[in-house]
Amino acid sequence: MQANKRIACLPCEFSKSTISRSEGKRETDMKISLLIAFVLSLWVTPAMANEWHATQGDVVTMETSYTGNALTLTCFGKSWPLKALGRGKWRGWVGVDLKKKPGKYNIMWKTAKGTVANDFLLVEKGTFRISHIEVSKKMAVFDKPTLTRIRTEVKALKASYKVAVDASPDMVMHSRPVDGIVSTPFGAQRFVNGEPRSPHSGIDIAVPAGTIIKAPLAGRVLLVADMYLNGKTVAIGHGNGLVSVYSHMQATAVKKGDWIETGGKIGEVGATGRATGPHLHWGVRFNNARVNPDSMLPKPVKTTPGKNAAP
Ligand SMILES: [Zn+2]
Repeated sequence: MQANKRIACLPCEFSKSTISRSEGKRETDMKISLLIAFVLSLWVTPAMANEWHATQGDVVTMETSYTGNALTLTCFGKSWPLKALGRGKWRGWVGVDLKKKPGKYNIMWKTAKGTVANDFLLVEKGTFRISHIEVSKKMAVFDKPTLTRIRTEVKALKASYKVAVDASPDMVMHSRPVDGIVSTPFGAQRFVNGEPRSPHSGIDIAVPAGTIIKAPLAGRVLLVADMYLNGKTVAIGHGNGLVSVYSHMQATAVKKGDWIETGGKIGEVGATGRATGPHLHWGVRFNNARVNPDSMLPKPVKTTPGKNAAP
């Protein structure tokens, strides 16, 4: 405390016009005290808060330093996966939903004994394309039984996003499940026959029917279904709250409960359900957040907004 008190007074003392020779030793003492207090302050002051940046739909990789076990990472009121990198370094991943309100959010790194670090996540608004498609009336206007069927199927698919899978792979997808041109990018605001619909929660890759779809990461098959709108669909749980979805297939090659390795065949590209031509719809949910599948690749592929991009 004494040292702190002296330091607080230092600027006033130095502001005096002259310092005599006899005060030289006193000045040296003060400098030593200042140094000791500075070192002590580094030791007792909590680490500076880090500020992480993300755009809607991103998976953010963040790190902190902590020499201990059982660290947890909380953001948006949810727990997110962590990995100990050794030498007191930890890496965590947070998924920012496609429609997460832009703003500043708290990130807490905690142990059972308390908070290790408080960081912030700044979420910015994404720039998403507008997409118009024209389909037959039966794929745009639904009678009551069809609407009931669609709702039941969507409910089953959504339930798969919450199934816990006991696996903890790296939070990186090996590659896209097929190689091709992106016909509808992630986040596109869709209009079906001129009517606004929910934003596009995945990416559409246009490739010929029959193209083999390969698992970009190992996982457990959680759902195989033939859906009215999504067509033949497979959902795979990769652990850590990560689920990937593949739709509009002409054929599926797996069954519910199967374990599929990275690169294993999921099925073949088709145009089943509401599709204007053969393509793969690839979606990723992370802790139920709709995230851009490309942000899970080793080097994220940036999709350039098209000429009709929203301002
Ligand atoms: Zn799609």
